[in-house]
Amino acid sequence: MTDDCIQQKSKTSKIKDFGGLLETEGLKKISEHTKEDCIFCKIAKGDIPCNKVYEDDKTLAFLDISPVSKGHTLVIPKEHAEKIYELSDESSEALAKTLKKISKAVEKALGCDFNVLNNNGEKAGQLVKHVHFHIIPKQDDTGFEYNWDSKKYEEDEDKEILEKIKTNLQF
Ligand code: AMP
Ligand code: ZN
Repeated sequence: MTDDCIQQKSKTSKIKDFGGLLETEGLKKISEHTKEDCIFCKIAKGDIPCNKVYEDDKTLAFLDISPVSKGHTLVIPKEHAEKIYELSDESSEALAKTLKKISKAVEKALGCDFNVLNNNGEKAGQLVKHVHFHIIPKQDDTGFEYNWDSKKYEEDEDKEILEKIKTNLQF
């Protein structure tokens, strides 16, 4: 998201200025937020408003403030972690269950198919450094657009990569 885009959001309404963060912090990028000023932790604590879909003791689901399609919902753990593997097992399990519950509700509510997206790291498009899964309804030409640029492995390259990944498996 560009600064222009963030600024544009701040003009539209109170809730669309990321709960007042833009007013207090100018155009500091949301992606620069640390654990202490994490916007999703603030939402989880109720310090910043959201359109809440569901909450339990470990997870929360709410509408994305800038939906890719109508009904675009975010599912987050209440525990702060930047990448999925940093979450505790308890939060991971709770998150998986909530993801299942909410995606079914979105599908039924909107009569849609849907994509589930989880970005990890800036190169992968992660703007908010608190684990979140996007549930993005897909029923027409709106929604998540993807166009796989499928590649081929050079000879034995797949085996080398396979070994590298397996060597890094940790349980
Ligand atoms: P990502 O690029 O995967 O980090 O996505 C972050 C998402 O969080 C974007 O789709 C934003 O529109 C959304 N977002 C940021 N702030 C808020 C907020 N205060 N309430 C709801 N959604 C938000
Ligand atoms: Zn957080």
